[in-house]
This record gives sequence, C-alpha cells and structure tokens, in this order.
Amino acid sequence: MTSVSLVGSTGSIGTQAAEVVQAEGDRYDVVAIGANRSIEHLAAQARELRPEVVALEDNEGAVALKELLPPGIEVVAGPGSLAAIATEADVIVNGVVGFAGLPVTLAALEAGRRLALANKESLIAGGPVVQRARATAGAEIIPVDSEHCAVHQCLRSSGPAGTAAVARLVITASGGPFRGRSRSALAEVTVDEALAHPTWSMGPKITIDSSTLMNKGLEVIEAHELFGIGYDDIDVVVHPQSVVHSMVEFNDGATVAQLSLPDMRLPIGYALAYPDRSGVAFGAIDWKALGRLDFEPPDLEAFPCLSLAYEAGRRGELAPAWLNAANEIAVAAFLKGVIPWLAVSEVIEAVLDAEPGGKADSVEAVLAADHQARERARTIVERRMQG
Ligand code: MG
Repeated sequence: MTSVSLVGSTGSIGTQAAEVVQAEGDRYDVVAIGANRSIEHLAAQARELRPEVVALEDNEGAVALKELLPPGIEVVAGPGSLAAIATEADVIVNGVVGFAGLPVTLAALEAGRRLALANKESLIAGGPVVQRARATAGAEIIPVDSEHCAVHQCLRSSGPAGTAAVARLVITASGGPFRGRSRSALAEVTVDEALAHPTWSMGPKITIDSSTLMNKGLEVIEAHELFGIGYDDIDVVVHPQSVVHSMVEFNDGATVAQLSLPDMRLPIGYALAYPDRSGVAFGAIDWKALGRLDFEPPDLEAFPCLSLAYEAGRRGELAPAWLNAANEIAVAAFLKGVIPWLAVSEVIEAVLDAEPGGKADSVEAVLAADHQARERARTIVERRMQG
C-alpha cells in the first residue's frame, strides 16, 4: 500500500484527492491530513480517512479540533505543522493555495519523497531553491496541474531521449470566462462573473487567475521549471473545450497530445499511481457528442498577464517571486471588491517594474523578495483606492 499525506486537505485539490483515494479502495493509506484552519472539515475528513496525524497550521483551533477527532489521532498545530506532515509518506500531495505552500514543497523534496505538486506557486516563486531540493536522492515532482500532467504523459513517448527530443511544448488554455472580449469590454466585469469558469471547477484564487490568463502565465514558468524547456519553446494556445490538456511537439515533427474530460481527479490519480496508472476513471470522452476541438491564439492585449509572466520567467531568479506575490495581492484585492479586474494586471506590471534584481540563492532570499513585493503591491493597491 502506498502511504499518502494530504497537505491542504480541505481545499479543492485536497478534497478531490480524498475522493480519488477512496475510489481506489485499498491502494492508498492516508497517514496524514492537514489544513490551515477548517477544523470541522478536517475532523470530518479524519473520521473518513482515519489518518495517524492531523495538522493544523493555525494554533488557535487546536483544542477544538482535538475534541472533534476520533480517539488515537495525533494533532500537530501551529506554524510549520503542514511542512511537518510533508516528510513521512511515500507521496505528499501539496494542495496548499499560493506562496504559503513553499515550506511544504521543500520539506517533501528534502525528505526524498515524491511530491504530487498542485501548489505551482512554490515552484514558480522559489524556482532555483526548489530545484536544489529536487536534487535530493529519491525526491521527484509529479505535477498535479492538468497541463503539466499532460506534458508529463506525452514526454513518456520519447523514451530515453526524454526532453532532448522536444521541439516545443504547447500549453493549452481554456481562455477563461472572458475569452473573446476586448480589453475595454472587461472594464466592468464583476467578481461573480470572473468566478464563473466555463469548463473547470477550482478554488477562487486559481479561477480568478484563469480569468486574467495569469494562471497560464504561471503555468508557462511552471513548465520551464518542471521540464527544463526554454521560454522560446513554450507556446500557449487557447482551446475552449479543455479536452486537449497540452501537447508536446518532437524534433521529428510528431505532436503527442493528452485528451480527457476536464476533471482534476485524473491528474491527482496519475500523480498518486505513477509510474502505474490509476485504476479509476472519472468520466470518459463521448467522441460522437464532442463534435469539434478549436484552437486559437491568446489575445495578449486583453490579457497582458500572460506576457508579464513570460517577462518574469525570462528574467528568472527573483522576478517570478515578485510576479507571484504581486498577483496574490492583486487577486485578493479584486476578490474583496477593492480594485477592478483591469487593475489586476496593472498592479502586477507596476510591481514587476520595481523588481530590483538579485539572486534566488536561498529560501531567505525568496521569502524576502516575496515580502518586499507584497508590500509594494499593497502600496499600489492603496494608492489606487485613494485615487
Ligand atoms: Mg492548469
């Protein structure tokens, strides 16, 4: 039996990972679950999954959580608790939202574990630091992001040649809820409209990122970090049906694609079962009803976040950390109704312009860059509110 630690277990990825584990019967043993603060949800999961340990990052709810749990389950609480449950299982699922997932990513890799990585922000913001941890014996990253899971599957067709046989990666994007709209038509969009994703069911942060195409921009950096392909050889194409999850074009002219229904339980099951295949399918494509698959170029004028991400990725070092931090602050401000949707990219651009350079050669350097960029972004958001 493969032991699994579900970090960020009460979020969108965590709850779907719990479903996958339960659908697979005896294949997996969930030894640990953890979240920031949702104690009732955590307790309900603990009753279902029967882990040995439950982690709570926020100290305050620890006493209440203990009362809700079945006897015999250990509780670890306080800052660092999620990283603490990221070392003692065969597979660590990192479903934490945002930059806060970095300690979990590093802990799992430094312990030489397989990391099922849904928390792309940690890899993007901490690229060089994560790469160093990834070199630990036994450590590996299997992406839990539909596009990168697709690329991972496509790359297996090149056998021992691996990425040396790759001409380019083609990352697909649904285009989000605002596909086809001009920049001026996007001035008045509401939070609810931005949260209404046409094909994917995801948490609020990533859904807003999808509406701005920043999610795709972050995924370009993620693909670069995961597969070591240069930015000139990573293309983005809009594919509204979300059936082709990405493609790899090889040097011989062959393009290999991975197709399935848009459902995150497939990438989760893939990462848990790798190098085997998951035995459970969550739906199948109805080819007779599918009709067509469309592809079109992204509109970089309406969705400048995609270009900003390429720029930060090409600059490398701490620039992606600045991009990511600015995005997290801008998205949170948009979700609170503090800034309009169009201002999200403006805030990020202004923050990125202020990035002073410097090397991402330590965790401290990455944390400091993240902190500085957040401060900068908050100042810009406040200025916008006043003006
Ligand atoms: Mg994705």
